[in-house]
Amino acid sequence: MRSNLAGPRLLLRRLREVMAEPIKAQARLDKIVVLIASNVVAEVCSVYVLRADGVLELYATEGLNREAVHRASLRVGQGLVGLIAAEARPLNLPNARAHPGFTYLPETGEEAYNSFLGVPILRAGRTLGVLVVQNKSHRTYLEDEVEALQTTAMVIAEMVAAGDLEAIAQKATGLDLSRPIHSSGTGLAEGVGLGHVVLHEPRVVVTNLIAEDVDAESSRLEVAINRLRLSIDDLLASGDMAGMGEHREVLEAYRMFAHDRGWIRKIEEAIRNGLTAEAAVEKVQSDTRARMLRQTDPYLRERLHDLDDLAYRLIRELMGRKHGPLSSELPQDAVLVARNMGAAELLDYGRDRIRGLVLEEGGPTSHVTIVGRALGIPLVGQVDDIVSLADAGDAIIVDGDAGEVHLRPAADIENSYAEKVRFRARRQAQYRRLRSKPSVTKDGVEITLQMNAGLLVDLPHLAEAGAAGVGLFRTELQFMVASSFPRMREQKAQYSQVLDAANGKPVTFRSLDIGGDKVLPYLRSIQEENPAMGWRALRLGLDRPGLLRTQIRALLTAAAGRELKLMFPMVAEVAEFIRARDLVDRELKHLRRHGHTVPEHIRLGVMVEVPSLLFQLDELMMHVDFVSVGSNDLFQFFSAADRSNTRVADRFDTLGIGFLRALKTIVDAAQEAHVPVTLCGELAGRPLEAMALIGLGYRDLSMSPASLGPVKAMLRTLDAGRLSARLLPRLEPGHPDTDIRTLLKRFANEMDVAL
Ligand code: PEP
Ligand code: MG
Repeated sequence: MRSNLAGPRLLLRRLREVMAEPIKAQARLDKIVVLIASNVVAEVCSVYVLRADGVLELYATEGLNREAVHRASLRVGQGLVGLIAAEARPLNLPNARAHPGFTYLPETGEEAYNSFLGVPILRAGRTLGVLVVQNKSHRTYLEDEVEALQTTAMVIAEMVAAGDLEAIAQKATGLDLSRPIHSSGTGLAEGVGLGHVVLHEPRVVVTNLIAEDVDAESSRLEVAINRLRLSIDDLLASGDMAGMGEHREVLEAYRMFAHDRGWIRKIEEAIRNGLTAEAAVEKVQSDTRARMLRQTDPYLRERLHDLDDLAYRLIRELMGRKHGPLSSELPQDAVLVARNMGAAELLDYGRDRIRGLVLEEGGPTSHVTIVGRALGIPLVGQVDDIVSLADAGDAIIVDGDAGEVHLRPAADIENSYAEKVRFRARRQAQYRRLRSKPSVTKDGVEITLQMNAGLLVDLPHLAEAGAAGVGLFRTELQFMVASSFPRMREQKAQYSQVLDAANGKPVTFRSLDIGGDKVLPYLRSIQEENPAMGWRALRLGLDRPGLLRTQIRALLTAAAGRELKLMFPMVAEVAEFIRARDLVDRELKHLRRHGHTVPEHIRLGVMVEVPSLLFQLDELMMHVDFVSVGSNDLFQFFSAADRSNTRVADRFDTLGIGFLRALKTIVDAAQEAHVPVTLCGELAGRPLEAMALIGLGYRDLSMSPASLGPVKAMLRTLDAGRLSARLLPRLEPGHPDTDIRTLLKRFANEMDVAL
């Protein structure tokens, strides 16, 4: 059958004229349906728009009963129109009434029509409505008619996205595009942020849809594709990918798509039908996206992400826009939304205007998470499809505590969160007031509160939170956020900057704790069955002494003329510490021999985090200058419960009687040997647990900066002597009630301890 279409290009040209006319949205939509009907030689052309309540409302029609406009409606999934919206794909039927999904809407008067062609109105893969043509005759619409209708649907999608149709909505429900969305992900950094969406990779809005000169558009596409291919080849060749948050595999996938003839042919076809090159890329991507979103196979969905990224890159190439938003363009309350982001990219935004971060990917140990936490930015990761659901400027709430995201929240949700934020701010202000107050219990016991850190951005917290020093500086973080192995010079620079920033307060560096699950992208890693118990930390350092010696030399030179406190992680035998100490001695000799200034004092310590050390405490205390309890690892090995496995991590109580006895054994042994002891695991940062530690005899705790205020508020209201008198007898064998957590809560309650 000959196509009834008088050329999709002609249709697009007419559409452009209609779009340029200074008329109201309803009048424009009415003209568009007339135009399409005459172009496709159809008796009927109708536009249905998806409302926020999941109903498709008839917005305009040529051919059906006009009285039905804004009255007739179908739910998603109901009738043929509802089916198209639900499945986001065209339906082309010579005899619509024979289709099992057909639903007759009497108010429209559509009983006279047989053939039916409907296409979804798509934008960035989201269905915003449905565009339909119908004929009395039994006919199957041709491929290029389907194309023409899809292209026209893009123009309507832009009208919806621009908010033009919101104004003519009859109901207060609003359109689907502005529907509130609640998504659950994984809370990666605590805190709550309210603000407005900033897309890290802004979707370039293609407003120039209709081509003036098809040949010129084809050549633009060719040039842009060549440039895109070259830029991917460059990235692959440079090997410098970590900063971009990209891995080789992803780039290989990009390269494959960038050479895919099928993809390029579809874009060329859309240009021949009258779209500009960028609109053609967007159309093809929108179709692909809608098709692939129905895929449940995680591999294919992952590839969709790659293809999405590639299409956006190509569109940006065509529109000459290469960069994300500049910091100066950010709103005061920006919530960054991205598929993923490199740590360096987050740092580039600066801290001032960022209220939160939402990622489709991101895990608890990914670099961006580490930096996000260090900057105190509420962060939720693993939020499906948030990039395509969110539009720049949308209101959004990030709840890093619960791992929830509310996009375009309803007023009541927004109010209750605003209250939560105000409450947190009031508490923070109280904690700030405590900053300069002494860290002493009610009965006069002095407790040293230090903070944990790992990046330079952490250091300002020292003064802000009023910490006495850095009790744990996790040196591996510098290695994890770098794109290649930091050289001796870079390590030294970082350590001296840390010491400078600490301004005379003590800093306890911990030697590299890499290996296991802390992988460095540039360091070949070995697959291990149990990485936490594998070749990590000091084990790796002793087997590859070059690595450890470089770090030791960097630390010794950075601390020249000052004090150097260094401890070693994952020590299981005293002999390991002695070997590490020998390495320090050798480096020290080497530096002295070459006339370098060395630290004025060197204190070497051990992290007590492998249970075997509990049975070597006396020998250990004879050799070390200090110890620090790594309660995170100690507890996971003590209770044989993987700290990163959510199924078991919280299974056993850290205030269980067995673990408290272990912690007591350590503090007793250290005190008896007059060896300073700190505890630097997460336990120290939780007020009730910190209270228990003080009851056991710990007098030096190191925690995340945000915990310093709550812990100080607790201890200033605590009578340490009375607590010990209540707690310690209960740790003796033979007492029938072993529920220590309840005992501690009751004590706090009775004594008005501020928990
Ligand atoms: C610990 O294990 O308690 C500790 C402080 O070190 P990390 O959490 O870095 O393993
Ligand atoms: Mg540890």
